[in-house]
Amino acid sequence: MRMRSTFLPFSKPSISEAEIADVAEVLRSGWITTGPKAADFEQAFCKYCGAPDAVALGSATAGMHLLFTALGLGPGDEVITPSLTWVSTVNLTVLAGATPVFADIDRDTLMVSAETVAPLITERTRLIVPVHFAGAAADMEPLRRLASQRGIPLVEDAAHAVGTEYRGDRIGRHGTTIFSFHPIKNITCGEGGMFCSDDPALMERIKRLKFHGLGVDAHDRTVQGRNPQAEVVEPGFKYNLPDMAAVLGLGQLARLEQFIVKRAELARRYLELLAGVEEILPLAVPGWPFRHAWHLFVVRLDVDRAGMDRATFMAELKNRNIGTGIHFRAVHTQKYYRETMGLPQGALPSTEWNSERICSLPLFPDMTREDVDSVVAAIKDVLR
Ligand SMILES: *Cc1c(COP(=O)(O)O)cnc(C)c1O
Repeated sequence: MRMRSTFLPFSKPSISEAEIADVAEVLRSGWITTGPKAADFEQAFCKYCGAPDAVALGSATAGMHLLFTALGLGPGDEVITPSLTWVSTVNLTVLAGATPVFADIDRDTLMVSAETVAPLITERTRLIVPVHFAGAAADMEPLRRLASQRGIPLVEDAAHAVGTEYRGDRIGRHGTTIFSFHPIKNITCGEGGMFCSDDPALMERIKRLKFHGLGVDAHDRTVQGRNPQAEVVEPGFKYNLPDMAAVLGLGQLARLEQFIVKRAELARRYLELLAGVEEILPLAVPGWPFRHAWHLFVVRLDVDRAGMDRATFMAELKNRNIGTGIHFRAVHTQKYYRETMGLPQGALPSTEWNSERICSLPLFPDMTREDVDSVVAAIKDVLR
């Protein structure tokens, strides 16, 4: 098979002309920051995932920061999360003066579980943050049971899980959940996030902390502009999602089910074609009932069988016009965390094993079946 003549990125947002027109309309409207579109987006998101309440934010990281502030996390407090995750939760933990505690993951689903979290709980544990990895669902029932038995808040990092379902419910319906709309995620606002919770007191606090501690948005729901009488109830941040971004989120959300169907088709094709490639190990599909949102298509390179390291493999794919990514390099192996935490090698065996071998192949809704075929052809060519 001939190699590709054009570069295939590992991810690319799908933006429609209608969405571009909607953004332009907001730009022309005279109100471009947080206002009616952000409110519509929050409402539509609640309806989609079944969450009782939601607040739109500038990023998922902002949501995590607001949560840490609401919980009053500080020195002496411990936050349990995987090391194989995006760095934001761990960075915020350290910035709050608290201590990250890394739970190892299942070697083939990359998920933390009640089994890996339970032994790490101490009297200082203040928060557990599992990650729904790659768009599959973590096994929440045992995790929720563990957290509630020990009286510890549990918040789901659902950055990969917009549209994921677990035991018949969309992620976001229960508990407290933080979603991301960064451009590589399943839907995008450019940058954005959504904080959902079924805890009304927490939601009230998050809404207040999101906007200077004023307890109101910049936009009075009935009149242009803000109620000038609003006053600071407690010091807060500036993490609101502007309408020019929220309107893009609204358009994307309306197409999310289509996106997921397409992603699932492409993923099935990958699984079919890669079944015979023994150097490539796709992730396992978890056994509990869930619907995959197929945010990422992650494989592990069997470096011994392949006779090459991952860096070479990725560079060779790039030479053949195939973009790839790493989701993620384990946090504890990165410079700052090596130097400050100094976990011994082998402390998190499944995390480390995967951190050295994982590679995300191109997966986005505007890809074609032929694109998938060209990725697999390039992989076979590299490994030959
Ligand atoms: C992308 C991502 C985040 C952060 O999302 P932002 O919206 O970029 O702040 C957090 N956790 C995971 C697992 C992610 O992949």
